[in-house]
Amino acid sequence: MVKTLLPTFALALIMTASTLAQSANSAAPNPQVRRALEYIQTIETETINEQIKTCEIPAPFFKEEARAAYYKQRFAEVGLKNVRIDKEGNVIGERPGTSSDTTLVLAAHLDTVFPEGTDVKVKREGNILRGPGIGDDCRGLAVILTVARALNEAKIMTKGTIIFVANVGEEGLGDLRGVKYLFNTELKGRITHFISVDGTGTRTTNAGVGSNRYRVTFKGPGGHSYGAFGMPSPIHALGRAVEKISRFEVPKTPKTTFTVGRIEGGTSVNSIAHTAWMEVDMRSESAAALAKVDAQFQQAVQDALKEENEFWNHEKKLTVEVTLVGNRPVGDQPADAPIVQAAIAADAALGLKSVFGASSTDSNIPMSLNIPAITIGGGGIGREAHALTESFDTTNSHVGTQRTLLITLNIVGVK
Ligand SMILES: [Zn+2]
Repeated sequence: MVKTLLPTFALALIMTASTLAQSANSAAPNPQVRRALEYIQTIETETINEQIKTCEIPAPFFKEEARAAYYKQRFAEVGLKNVRIDKEGNVIGERPGTSSDTTLVLAAHLDTVFPEGTDVKVKREGNILRGPGIGDDCRGLAVILTVARALNEAKIMTKGTIIFVANVGEEGLGDLRGVKYLFNTELKGRITHFISVDGTGTRTTNAGVGSNRYRVTFKGPGGHSYGAFGMPSPIHALGRAVEKISRFEVPKTPKTTFTVGRIEGGTSVNSIAHTAWMEVDMRSESAAALAKVDAQFQQAVQDALKEENEFWNHEKKLTVEVTLVGNRPVGDQPADAPIVQAAIAADAALGLKSVFGASSTDSNIPMSLNIPAITIGGGGIGREAHALTESFDTTNSHVGTQRTLLITLNIVGVK
């Protein structure tokens, strides 16, 4: 089922790969690169099996250890050097190059959005795989392993060093903790380029959406709903805040969003609650627009508190605590940046149309540090990421791995 490329297309691929190298000052059009591309197609069944196996090892965010241990073993088995798990939980394996000018991190994330106890058994119906996390990001993890194997099989020596990373903390409240640790501590000062293989398809994310996330907790004395009536209520204050937030007006461009994602409070129907909280997520492609909606949000919370306290005018007052629980910086990269051009050249070589977009991914961190970074899909067709019904269509999925290899070589260069 993986032999879906027509021979003529394969030939075109090889021919355009040479053109690519001449025009983009990139990977040499040598037989080794062709060998690596062919090998990737040949072993796509194994890549898919790896993807399934990975996915059946649970990796809720903040609990990625079991999947990390498996990747540590696999990194060692495919011959990477200095294989280790850093203090944050990232799995790291290096493939040294012949010069020290370029060090590319090729990463995929270990964590999923699914809680402990989720059934992670992958079901297969023909070309369709079903399982939570099967595309996001079991595909990326399997792809980077196959890239390492293909480089070895084709005996490709690269000029720059490639550091393979299976990182923690991409999803939700993980807040990019894995990649933050790489750039701030573990590989501080070493990384010149960063690629995250995240999810499916062949899109390139070259702009990072910034986000601010908060937990807001209203607190009060609480009491009996009848006996203590007249006292301000944290739930009522929370309701006032949600009502204000729900009426925010934000620009369509730059795309800016807000959501109260979770609320909880109270203990029983006949009590004035003593606590109520919400979690709020705000995002924007623009740092200024994000700051603006953030300021509106802060104001809404304080106004809600004031209104609820003034409404009852009770001697006992409510308080509110606003805690930042997530912060992803906005990042951007022009279309003529060499790392973006590396993706465009790989697309051309594979006969793919280049598609770009903005998103919130691990690349936000390097982008905010002005280190060239992109996030790319691992191929195939993904549906319903972050849902229990997530699926992955393997049709021509090897192209995503080939593309990852070509982009990588366009950056590090072939010796
Ligand atoms: Zn992801």
